[in-house]
Amino acid sequence: MKSRDYNEFIIKINLESLRKNPNAGRKVLFINGLTEIESKYIIKENDKYFVITKINEIEIRREIFKGKTPKKSLPLLLSKTISRTVEPVYLLKSEPKYLFSFIPTKIQCSFCNKKFFHTELLSDYLDDDTYTATECPKCHKWDCCNLKFEELSNINKND
Ligand SMILES: [Zn+2]
Repeated sequence: MKSRDYNEFIIKINLESLRKNPNAGRKVLFINGLTEIESKYIIKENDKYFVITKINEIEIRREIFKGKTPKKSLPLLLSKTISRTVEPVYLLKSEPKYLFSFIPTKIQCSFCNKKFFHTELLSDYLDDDTYTATECPKCHKWDCCNLKFEELSNINKND
């Protein structure tokens, strides 16, 4: 295969960055959605009483107030409800046990021979089947090198 001729580099895990994932094993995460504050007031306008409903301080409804004339000063707060939506995010794979980052590693493009850090590589795609995660940031050729990312189970074996 053509990939065998390409420059190959091993990208090591930064052990300093290794930490336990607080969401390990979970397949669904919950993120906080919007906070909604609904409040109702009685107000007086042009000698008429109205019940105003506001959501997040924006008036969404105004109805004529039909109860007894309020004796308290206006606007009179009738109710206030605070609700927050929680949205589930479903993951294709369960969350890994550990989180970590990789050590930025000097690599070399197989086409233009320029050197740069692997973190500078670009990614690009045309469609779901045609993409690259190793586009040279200098000459912009696709698949400019072969990267092997260290896996957690290899940490003790090598080095
Ligand atoms: Zn290049």
